[in-house]
Amino acid sequence: MNLQKLETILQAQNQPKFRIQQIKKAIYQEGISSFSDISTLSKDLREVLEKEMPVLSFEVQQVLISKDGQSIKALLKLRDGNLIEAVLIAPKPGIWSACISCQVGCAMGCKFCATGKIGFKRNLTAEEITDQILFWIQHLKTTNHKLSTIVYMGMGEPFSNWEQVSQSLRDLTDPNLFGIGSRSISVSTSGIPEGIEKMAQEFPQVNLALSFHFGSNEKRSAAMPINRKNNLESLKVALQNYFAKTKRKVFLEYVMLAGVNDDSKDADNLIDFIRSIGKLQLLHVNLIRYNSTDSQFKSSSKERTILFRDYLEKNRIEVTIRKSLGEEIQGACGQLAGK
Ligand code: SF4
Repeated sequence: MNLQKLETILQAQNQPKFRIQQIKKAIYQEGISSFSDISTLSKDLREVLEKEMPVLSFEVQQVLISKDGQSIKALLKLRDGNLIEAVLIAPKPGIWSACISCQVGCAMGCKFCATGKIGFKRNLTAEEITDQILFWIQHLKTTNHKLSTIVYMGMGEPFSNWEQVSQSLRDLTDPNLFGIGSRSISVSTSGIPEGIEKMAQEFPQVNLALSFHFGSNEKRSAAMPINRKNNLESLKVALQNYFAKTKRKVFLEYVMLAGVNDDSKDADNLIDFIRSIGKLQLLHVNLIRYNSTDSQFKSSSKERTILFRDYLEKNRIEVTIRKSLGEEIQGACGQLAGK
């Protein structure tokens, strides 16, 4: 919601100062989706607001719900016609997690990612980012559910749009707006050391996830061009500095790709990287089943993934096989293509 515009309208209508707080509470915390439903406002003011400004900065083009109802994907049309996607998943019954986008497309070009294939179109504004959360809060209100966690793992690299992403984090955690706890939010990066540094300084309580996927520079650079600029050595230093400042756990995301990063040598490379940081207890590996896109990659088998996990565990690495949700509606990790 465009707060500046709202303030301007309220001033022009000679409204008292507290009016904006009433509206913020209704929209951000109570999930009311239309000004006309805010009963504390006069009928005239409701009409003016309805006419002058929409609550959301996009139109909802399509909502797809998986058969089990645990994954929902929304295709959202921005005012300039660009399309983005936002996803809502329930990893456990009643626990809802929103996966949001921060850019239209992405410049990082990771070979296994559908968003990377469409390239970079533009950054989202903080309003466009937080409106995705507003939309999911409104959606969940219709089923009497609440949003539990937020992950910046949709379209785009958060640290390539830090100005707007950091503003969106301030808005999400602002008690007068969304009032969401920092520890319920995670930001995921493909590996930009300066961004990791900024997170440690500005948002030490927000969770950090690293799209890691490859424990050798050779393989990582082949699939993730960002590694040619910021290699594993620079990520190691960035993580060591992050731990020194925050003492918070970091999640290493590891998508299991058949014949590419799933053998014992790959596991050894991952173990070596984690050990080289010297903070075994502060790194947690999430093994993720690869979701099919039209790329050349295929997911590792379930058996191979379990073997990989067991090998890491034997080496005292904290590891979880993450349940994959949303594949059927093309809303799982790496599948968002804005179409
Ligand atoms: S995986 Fe993330 S950083 Fe890489 S291309 Fe996809 S959206 Fe961008």
